[in-house]
Amino acid sequence: MLLLLYNLASMNTMMDYPLTLAPVLERAGMLFPNGQIISRLPDRSFHRYTYREFRERARRLAESLTAAGLQCGERVATLMWNHYAHFEAYFGVPIAGGILHPLNLRLHPNEVSYIANHAQDRFLIVDDVLLPVLEKFKAQTNFERIFVVRHCSDRVPEGFEDYEEWISKATGDFQYPDLRETDGASMCFTSGTTGNPKGVVYSHRSIILHSLAGTMADSMGVSQRDTILVGSSMFHANAWGLPYTAALVGAKLVFPGPNLDAESLLNLMEDEHVTVAGAVPTIWLPITEMLASQKGRWKREHTLRIMCGGTAPPEALIRTLDEHKLHIIHAWGMTETSPAATMSVLRPHMDDWPEEQRYAMRARQGWPLPFVDLRIMTPHGEAPHDGQTPGELEVRGPWVAGSYFNAPETRDRWTKDGWFRTGDVASMEPDGCIKLVDRSKDLIKSGGEWISSVDLENALMSHPAVREAGVIAMPHPKWQERPLAVVVLRDGQQASAEELRTFLGQKFAKWQLPDDFAFVKELPHTSIGKLSKVELRKQFANWDWQTPQHR
Ligand code: AMP
Repeated sequence: MLLLLYNLASMNTMMDYPLTLAPVLERAGMLFPNGQIISRLPDRSFHRYTYREFRERARRLAESLTAAGLQCGERVATLMWNHYAHFEAYFGVPIAGGILHPLNLRLHPNEVSYIANHAQDRFLIVDDVLLPVLEKFKAQTNFERIFVVRHCSDRVPEGFEDYEEWISKATGDFQYPDLRETDGASMCFTSGTTGNPKGVVYSHRSIILHSLAGTMADSMGVSQRDTILVGSSMFHANAWGLPYTAALVGAKLVFPGPNLDAESLLNLMEDEHVTVAGAVPTIWLPITEMLASQKGRWKREHTLRIMCGGTAPPEALIRTLDEHKLHIIHAWGMTETSPAATMSVLRPHMDDWPEEQRYAMRARQGWPLPFVDLRIMTPHGEAPHDGQTPGELEVRGPWVAGSYFNAPETRDRWTKDGWFRTGDVASMEPDGCIKLVDRSKDLIKSGGEWISSVDLENALMSHPAVREAGVIAMPHPKWQERPLAVVVLRDGQQASAEELRTFLGQKFAKWQLPDDFAFVKELPHTSIGKLSKVELRKQFANWDWQTPQHR
């Protein structure tokens, strides 16, 4: 089954054992046969099975794909919510030698069809409830066969095949192909805001190493004692690697399906005794509101660790969640970095620090995981590690992309000496901790000086009346650009522009303060729940400093 090669040429005596998903699946089935995998399905019912059944079904899927003619390196797309069948594809496709390609179900149909065509997806596995989404772009794509996972329907429509029927025909005697650790295993596209979306192909090796990092006590510390709620989309950077990390150690898995509202998640966390959860800050915001409005409804004996990234969780959110024994571990990363690259887990000598300082540290993006190298580059070379000097963050490591899929024109995203240019602007402390200042394209350039939109947003969101805030650069006749703050107030709360200005004035120099405040009912978000600055800029494209329209 597994390829063992003795590495004689390089003068060591250790086995060259390929790091692939095959032994992870086998081990999960053998060592944790009773480990639970629980899914909340689209009809809100529960599906429960064990790692033993999971291994059996993932192998059946692999056998069925091989019988369907899937060749090594070919792509199999999914259009699915977070649940057991998607998890089966996470393993079943790569162990058959294929590359799993989860499609982002929230993108515009033109964008999904572009992505599916660019990836040359051969087969598709789709949830029945997402067939209407598929219908919008199917005509523009070339899936050879489409398999439907039925949740709410009795049969599959004409022209589609039934996933259950298909995998039930497998003999159950799957023979692993010779997998190399450098083979592609899964792929995700960046939520790129300029140009076409770009594909990143993760290898077996990069997934395994990233998963191992997730089990380190100084990162998420995931172990077999944990119950993991996969709240980040399975189409976004492998759901931050959490399903793979869970399988590696046999942790109980909880998939919420499309039921991502605050009440459903709080119930799931309590009923299934969740100890680790991953989700973007926009998921946690309504959760804090519900916890505040229905005090005492949800009980938690132990602290739950939250892997939170994608955008910076405001310090105020970290504090509020702590009051409910929900402990944010702030992580930074990108689709290109698998995604976890840094984590803000405080160091022992910080235990005695004042609370203020500890929260300030936790709101930073933190320290790189082992094997992740970071540097901050300015036009004059590498920035000093002084916690002050901003520059573009560059990264390299075994789970960092070395190129995009079939996109030679993007070669300049990598430096000649092999670092990936992230497009994020950051500073680095002497101890290696990084703080993101902004995306380079979101920085505001006022009279030649830079203003961080992220810092202003975070400060605004610590005001008790502010639910969410976005700060964007607006062209200005005198200063080139000036900050405009777009604010959503909490229900029933009031705050005037003047009041917010005075509030920010306690922390920022006068020239850094937004010139104006627009109050809106909601802010635009991307398909994975991040504040969409692109959309916000479009909405305020006709902003006139003289005659504010949105007050
Ligand atoms: P994506 O590839 O869609 O996950 O987007 C990656 C980008 O999200 C990064 O380049 C950052 O700009 C942003 N991002 C991710 N994590 C964080 C974080 N913890 N704080 C601030 N920005 C973040």
